[in-house]
Amino acid sequence: MPKTGSCECGAVTYRIAADEPVHVYACHCLDCQLRSGSAFAEHAMVRAASFECEGELEAYRRKIEGMVSEELFCRECHTRLFNRNDVLPGMVFLRAGTLNERQAIAPVAHLWTSRKQAWVMLPEGVPAFPESPTPAEFGAAIAQAQSSVEAAGAV
Ligand SMILES: [Zn+2]
Ligand SMILES: [Zn+2]
Repeated sequence: MPKTGSCECGAVTYRIAADEPVHVYACHCLDCQLRSGSAFAEHAMVRAASFECEGELEAYRRKIEGMVSEELFCRECHTRLFNRNDVLPGMVFLRAGTLNERQAIAPVAHLWTSRKQAWVMLPEGVPAFPESPTPAEFGAAIAQAQSSVEAAGAV
């Protein structure tokens, strides 16, 4: 089953290929708190080749540490659906809360926990990083999530 999602008004929808893993991570950094207007943001990195989006989008470009990040919104209701950047052009950074299956999300890792709001309690056994993990550390967190899914027979 492909994973699907949409903006609030439904004018923009997307689907992710069934064979593309969707590993959601929570980022507690101050930027994510500010830009989401909430305690943390949920993202998932998926390959652009596995991601299909339909509907009219509006783009907002901003520079972060020399990198150009483009944020894509529904033109009608302005729900932010995903980001992309010029450093990893083959990837789409999905705003995971826009997934239709969002109630089933269990983040595989928590980033920037040094900035997390005090009331947020993290589940035991889920990798947590005080700042951004290295790609190797993040890969290990995903591998751990994958093996616990397999152990539970949920694949
Ligand atoms: Zn919309
Ligand atoms: Zn963040």
